[in-house]
Amino acid sequence: MNKKFQRHIEDFICSQCGAAVKGDGYTNHCPECLWSRHVDVNPGDRSAFCQGMMEPIAFTVKHGKYILTHRCTACGIEKKNKTSKNDNFEAILRLQGEINA
Ligand SMILES: [Zn+2]
Ligand SMILES: [Zn+2]
Repeated sequence: MNKKFQRHIEDFICSQCGAAVKGDGYTNHCPECLWSRHVDVNPGDRSAFCQGMMEPIAFTVKHGKYILTHRCTACGIEKKNKTSKNDNFEAILRLQGEINA
């Protein structure tokens, strides 16, 4: 199986909040509402068939970095995603957080 990260640059309209998101090739979630879509099996490969909306349910802080946990509303899979510097920080903090030093 090819686990190499594949970079896709794509702009998209968030189907959750309608924000126009400028793709940077790494972000797979909306910086405004943090919702994502279940499109990857391995990061960036866009090969999942599910296409379900992924709800941000929690964040973890590890070594000073914020990691989001998304859960797919269609199939229930949970995935961890790094936040990007464009993400709405207040929206992150509204999630259930866990801080691991
Ligand atoms: Zn959004
Ligand atoms: Zn799914």
